[in-house]
Amino acid sequence: MIYSCQTKCCHYIFLGSEQQRACPDCGKQQIQPATAAERAEFFHRHTAALVKRRRSG
Ligand SMILES: [Zn+2]
Repeated sequence: MIYSCQTKCCHYIFLGSEQQRACPDCGKQQIQPATAAERAEFFHRHTAALVKRRRSG
């Protein structure tokens, strides 16, 4: 499951288990399941290293 951290300065998007409660980056328990846009950003980041120049639209 992909989560996003809701704290203002962190906003870390990460892959976690269903028991995940806290952000692995800042440690705060303010995470929520990522929205579609956040999931897209997550996958974009992880594929950006492989595919440098690829744009849709
Ligand atoms: Zn965080």
